[in-house]
Amino acid sequence: MKLYITNCKTCQSKIYIDATASTRSDLRSRFGGDHFYAVCQNCQSKNLYHVTEVFAESEKTSALTGGVVGGLIGLIGGPLGLLVGSGLGAAIGNSIDDDEQKKVDSFNTSR
Ligand SMILES: [Zn+2]
Repeated sequence: MKLYITNCKTCQSKIYIDATASTRSDLRSRFGGDHFYAVCQNCQSKNLYHVTEVFAESEKTSALTGGVVGGLIGLIGGPLGLLVGSGLGAAIGNSIDDDEQKKVDSFNTSR
């Protein structure tokens, strides 16, 4: 899961923030309040933002993780292993995606 600010106050681009938090109140406790400074990766300007301007999005690395796991099982088990492995890999990938989506939703619906 990645956290970002929807719009830079200077150039309107999306700013990814280097912080991990499961909810906005978690983020608030990390920043020590509602407001925090962030530097835009696009225009380098530093502006003050409010925690409610922060949203979460999922990182789609899980399909890759699933594929790697599937491939590894395939390597050990041969053709049948590859078949089982790719199915299992996809299942693992999907369950990570579901989990990730739940975390994203719970952040985005937090206050
Ligand atoms: Zn900017």
